[in-house]
Amino acid sequence: MTVITTSVFELLKIGPGPSSSHTIGPMKAGFDFFRLMAELPAEIQATAAGIQVFLYGSLAATGKGHGTDRAILAGLMGKSPEDCPPDFLDGLALERNTAFTLKAGAQPVPFRGTDILFDAGCFDFPFSNTMVIRLSGRDGVILEKEYYSVGGGFLQWKGWQESERGTPRYPYENAEQLWKQMKKHRLKLDELMLANEKAITGLNEAEINRRLDRIIAVMEESVQRGVHTEGFLPGPIGLHRKAALLYQRAKGLAQNAERLLVYLCAYAFAAAEENAAGHIVVTAPTCGSAGVIPAIVSLLRHHYKLPLETIRSALLASVAVGFIAKQNASISGAEVGCQGEIGVASSMAAALVAFASGSGVQIAENAAETALEHHLGMTCDPVKGYVQIPCIERNAMGAVKAYTAWLIAREGLPVWHIVGLDKAVEAMNLTGRDMKVEYRETSQGGLARCC
Ligand code: SF4
Repeated sequence: MTVITTSVFELLKIGPGPSSSHTIGPMKAGFDFFRLMAELPAEIQATAAGIQVFLYGSLAATGKGHGTDRAILAGLMGKSPEDCPPDFLDGLALERNTAFTLKAGAQPVPFRGTDILFDAGCFDFPFSNTMVIRLSGRDGVILEKEYYSVGGGFLQWKGWQESERGTPRYPYENAEQLWKQMKKHRLKLDELMLANEKAITGLNEAEINRRLDRIIAVMEESVQRGVHTEGFLPGPIGLHRKAALLYQRAKGLAQNAERLLVYLCAYAFAAAEENAAGHIVVTAPTCGSAGVIPAIVSLLRHHYKLPLETIRSALLASVAVGFIAKQNASISGAEVGCQGEIGVASSMAAALVAFASGSGVQIAENAAETALEHHLGMTCDPVKGYVQIPCIERNAMGAVKAYTAWLIAREGLPVWHIVGLDKAVEAMNLTGRDMKVEYRETSQGGLARCC
């Protein structure tokens, strides 16, 4: 095992749905190439005549349905995942013969839908999700780069090397070591996470807080857009959005507990539907599970009126759970099934609500463990390969389980809690590795097979 050196902002990323590997990673690749073209000498730019994009592996197989082509094009137009307007991709009608004018610096370069090749032929790359982007000139290739979307919105390329990063001030590999560090240094969980983030990234506290506030704002925006949008989601299923209906129903409910529960579901549906529509969300920890934490955040902000600073600290604390799961198991449906996506999101959300409500770290850990424990074994089986069924409803169930896990943990004595978070993560890892490939994001098993 190795010490966790991931940054908070590598786990919580802003970008377009519906799939971090198929949309956020490719948009980053397009944006990187846009910048490289802008750095070419003017006399080379002046010879640019065309751009081609070659997609391989699962990007070629399911990229059309996931909007990979539009995400790359937006990147080539100079849009990065963090700064892309929420509905920019909606206006990007990309058909085979649609003509665009891209830019290599100041030089206009023609581009058509047919310049994106989905089935790019023989495959001999180290990663399944590979893209090659090429700028051609009158006399041949000017610039070419081979990119790999390696999951969770992380991007690598041929010759990529891990960038230098600082050493965490309070190193840990798992929950047990984390709790020991807190005890030894008399730190609260958010204080330890903040100190580590500063050491790993070199950012100061004000900048970390600014970025956290932006993450929270984007989460809340995705919920607000979702509860005020009706209609059908894109794709062949013809699935109708439901968040707006749930939101309106919640307003009319008299019984407090029922009302809060329906609000919570409405919020989770809202962000998950926005993700399915290809709009901007936060990977928390993935695009598919982008509704769980925003639902809990919206509940705490708008119904329990908790201040932004409290949510910020609780979010920071919840990321520790995501780090531990990512480090010792996985947060990818392709590796361990949906337990790694909705399960981990629910576990993080349970820790968040516990921390925000003033519970100690023991209750937060118990809540996180309970939420994860009751997602163990959950497969990844998106119907027709779209992040809609069962994904959207699963976000609501994940949020409800998170809240319930906290309620249960709050009332228990620590000695009653037999299974620790590390054990639940280990069980998730073993269960995930035992899952047949059909149940790991291939859309060949479970609901995907039956529907
Ligand atoms: S079913 Fe698969 S695609 Fe859908 S949320 Fe779960 S892990 Fe993600």
